[in-house]
Amino acid sequence: MTPEIYNDKRFGINQNHISKNALNIISKLHKSGFEAYIVGGGIRDMIKGLKPKDFDIVTDCEPEEIRKIFRNSRIIGRRFKLVHIAFDDEIIEATTFRAGGTNTTESIEINEKGRIVRDNNWGTQEEDVLRRDLTINSIYYDPFSHEIIDYTKGIKDLKDKKIRFIGNSGERILEDPVRILRALRFAAKLNFSIDQEIADGIKEHKTQLLEMPPARLYEEVIKMFMTGHAEQSFIQLKAYGVFDVLFPHFRDEDGIFDKFYLEAFRETDKRFKLNKKLNVGFIFAVLLWPKVFFDSSISTQINFKRFYRSIAEVVRKQQMITSIPKKYSSFIKDVWMNQVRFSRVGKKSINFTKSLRFRAAYDFLLLRNVNEQNLEVSTNWWTEFKTANYDKKIRLLNTLKKKNARKQNS
Ligand code: ATP
Ligand code: MG
Repeated sequence: MTPEIYNDKRFGINQNHISKNALNIISKLHKSGFEAYIVGGGIRDMIKGLKPKDFDIVTDCEPEEIRKIFRNSRIIGRRFKLVHIAFDDEIIEATTFRAGGTNTTESIEINEKGRIVRDNNWGTQEEDVLRRDLTINSIYYDPFSHEIIDYTKGIKDLKDKKIRFIGNSGERILEDPVRILRALRFAAKLNFSIDQEIADGIKEHKTQLLEMPPARLYEEVIKMFMTGHAEQSFIQLKAYGVFDVLFPHFRDEDGIFDKFYLEAFRETDKRFKLNKKLNVGFIFAVLLWPKVFFDSSISTQINFKRFYRSIAEVVRKQQMITSIPKKYSSFIKDVWMNQVRFSRVGKKSINFTKSLRFRAAYDFLLLRNVNEQNLEVSTNWWTEFKTANYDKKIRLLNTLKKKNARKQNS
């Protein structure tokens, strides 16, 4: 395999955008006699003119040796050993070139389903490239020699805006079904297209995602919905039938909740761009809402206990697919429980507007109003009520009380 080699000037790469820590690691590895490159998102995004989220380093130095060179490092992972090098402001991942291929050796293990269960078989750069997922993710960059090394026409695919697996898509998906989500995520983030071979592979193997560890799927969901391209991620997941695999709420063939989702994710992306805080709990409250909605209709007559039990069940079931850390599950349930308080207006409503999680609950109500019937009046009432002073709040409550009494009498 002969790679194409480019000079970084060609892509106008600004070395000031590279993490100083990453540069120091590479330089130190070079001085110890090893090769070291930036690979993956770090170089891919820079070529695209985007600011990389992080810089992954790959080297021919083995984990134990890296560990010795960097005092601030530790080896993590069993299935996939790598080294974390910690700094005050970031953690940089360094991996060792891996030999891929499906010829089973001592340290690469494939199970009966064609799945990689262990991969710690060190190799050369030429071998390493073949076990990466996408062509656009297999570009290597040496910031000191200024060379960009491309074995798989990744640069061309970046230019043509194409998501392509290295090798046969179906096989690569079977080896690691999480790659389905990765392919869709990068298509969403970069606004790239997916070819027919990948589409077929996804269709055939998407349910295999359910066999993946919930923690891995959770991580991917976070990356899809919390990094500025939630709306596009949703559109991609929907288009390839993967959304219903990850969030099997109901068969929403008519897309009743699409409007709700799109509005929520557009808001999320806006907040991300404004550098505002994003709450994982809120995203999950959105993702799972249709299930709550269909399980129990919210009304003044709702039985609190039963409602709580049913929403706890929604969270518990989802955790078997994508884990949801404990610290968020109580937030999620709170947002939903508080929806009931919007339909049970009374004296307590005043304190409700002052409570810690009112804001999230109210934002959620605004979203619901996008596609649920009969919420308009109540939403407007709450919008006025929440900003009113105490006296006005009392007046609003009294007026509503009278109105409801009249309704009951008529
Ligand atoms: P991001 O911007 O999200 O960090 P990334 O491409 O850098 O994108 P990472 O998860 O940081 O993604 O992984 C770094 C690199 O490791 C990838 O670019 C890819 O080459 C390789 N890689 C990661 N996950 C897989 C996988 N499941 N299968 C094959 N290769 C993978
Ligand atoms: Mg990365």
